[in-house]
Parts: sequence; structure tokens; C-alpha cells
Amino acid sequence: MCVICGDDQHDPAVSRRDFLKSGSVAALSPWLLGAALAADPPAPGAAPPPNAIPPAEALKRLTEGNARYAANTPNQRDFSSGRAARALSQFPIAAILSCADSRVAPELTFDQGPGELFVVRVAGNVVSPDLLASLEYGVQFLGAPLVLVLGHSGCGAVDAAIKVLKTKAVLPGHLPELIAAIKPAVIVAEKTQSGSLLDNAIAENVRRQVARLKASPPVVQKYYTEKKIDIVGGVYDIATGKITLV
Ligand SMILES: [Zn+2]
Repeated sequence: MCVICGDDQHDPAVSRRDFLKSGSVAALSPWLLGAALAADPPAPGAAPPPNAIPPAEALKRLTEGNARYAANTPNQRDFSSGRAARALSQFPIAAILSCADSRVAPELTFDQGPGELFVVRVAGNVVSPDLLASLEYGVQFLGAPLVLVLGHSGCGAVDAAIKVLKTKAVLPGHLPELIAAIKPAVIVAEKTQSGSLLDNAIAENVRRQVARLKASPPVVQKYYTEKKIDIVGGVYDIATGKITLV
């Protein structure tokens, strides 16, 4: 049974019990566990998947794409071409952990088309168990060679964390839990002498989430340690459209 979708047709050889056995995850082929959403198993001797590129090459494509976006010279795209192929498989070149801010649009920002970015989003671009699981899926089963944490200028979530710390503001709903994950970055940024507290906290928050991902076992840490992926952070400037790596 496929452990992702529960469909008996996907992989009768891999049971949920087997999946839960210690160490079984590392032994599974991406083609088995991700059968419902990833590509079909490659035939013997077949060409590697199109996203089997070095992490540095993936970052270069994103950097060049952002330069095109910032210059307002994005590539021309035919969104209908390739739809049939995309219905069968996906080969993202990067997994992006982005803030949910409506002014940050990763595919546009990096000038990438459908199927090229595996994007997870949450206000404040912080790592949570669900988002980490999604990134694990993107890395191990979709083969994304790069993880990029994307913060941005004027982030309302980081600004809220600053206000909570400075004024003891009380936020409604589930916001306190989210803001608590950002507070450590603000506390570090408060010790920085130059620049604005908000800008420094935004950058520090990105760096902290990058560090957290690098130390997140069992999947992301392993892939990073084995240099199968790289994990980097960037801050998107809403006013200019440019991303600066931090
Ligand atoms: Zn934000």
C-alpha cells in the first residue's frame, strides 16, 4: 500500500508497518514512497530526472531568475505546453520556505514556471512540524536539490514579534504560538548596533530557520550532511524585487 495516499495499486511491497520500522525510511526508494506524486520509476539506463542538478546550479537558476524579475524582463512562458507531462510527474529544482505575505510570490520572484518550485508558506517563514514534513517530501521524494528560506522586507509577522516583546502586546487566536517561534530572532537582533531592528530581525529569523533545517533529522539533516542538498536563506526586498542571500 502506498504510505502517502493509501492506494493499494501504488506499492504493494511497502506497508505502513514497514514504513514505521526503524530505519526503513532511509532504505525506501523515492520512487516507491512517492509513487502517487513523484515521477514513475526510471527505466534501467534512462536519463536522470531533470532536477538531478547540483545545488549550486539550482541556486544559480534562482539567482538569475530573480535578476530577470527585478529587471522586469521575465522569460516568455507558454503555460499550456508541458501540462500533459506535468500531470504525470514533477521535478522541482528547489523547495522554498516562504512567508505567506501576499506581496511575495516565489514563482514570479524567481521567474520559474509550474513544476519548478516546491513551495511551502507560513507567516514569518518559520519551520514547524508540518512544514518540515513537506520539505522532507520535497527533498527525498521529489528530488529538490536546494532548500531556500525566503524572508522579506516589512514582514508583518516579525514586526508583530517585536511589538509583543517591546509592549507586551497580546495577540488573538493562535498568533501567540506563531510569534513565539520568531521571538528568538528578535532577541538576537536587539543586540545588533547598526541597521533597523525590523530588518535585522527579518534576516536573523531567516538565518535561524536555515540553521534549524540543517539540524533537522532524519531527512533534511542527512541530505544536507551528505551534500545531496544545500540549504540557504534570502530576504526579498518588496520595493526592488531583489533577493539578497543572508
Ligand atoms: Zn512576512
